[in-house]
Amino acid sequence: MKTAENKSRALGLRFTKTRRKVLEILWQSHSPLGAYDILDRLQEDSRRPAPMVVYRALDFLIEAGLAHRLSSRNAFIGCSAPEGDHEAQFLICNHCGSAAEVEARPIAKAVEETAASAGFHVHQRVVEITGVCPNCQS
Ligand SMILES: [Zn+2]
Ligand SMILES: [Zn+2]
Repeated sequence: MKTAENKSRALGLRFTKTRRKVLEILWQSHSPLGAYDILDRLQEDSRRPAPMVVYRALDFLIEAGLAHRLSSRNAFIGCSAPEGDHEAQFLICNHCGSAAEVEARPIAKAVEETAASAGFHVHQRVVEITGVCPNCQS
């Protein structure tokens, strides 16, 4: 949480109560959460906020590098290494839905070079690899 606060301060962004709560919910979960799962969990402590509030908090957290969006699941997950800037790769299990964040620099580099040679300007480069995790294999 300290890292999160420092990061948002460095970016000149306000770390509001909702943003903090959403980040806590993401970090407590071991699998990716959809926006409505997050809404349900927020509701446990207070009135159910408008979905827009959650989407805005998620945008903020992604922008600040504290969370990632998994397009293939339409879900969100807390970043496991928010200290540094990095490209995220995820190993997503089709059985239990867990998503492990890994850092494979060669992949990031290859994506960067491929995009650059096509003259393409990259915004997001989250790589999602689906399969079966070690727990589910046994
Ligand atoms: Zn990350
Ligand atoms: Zn699994």
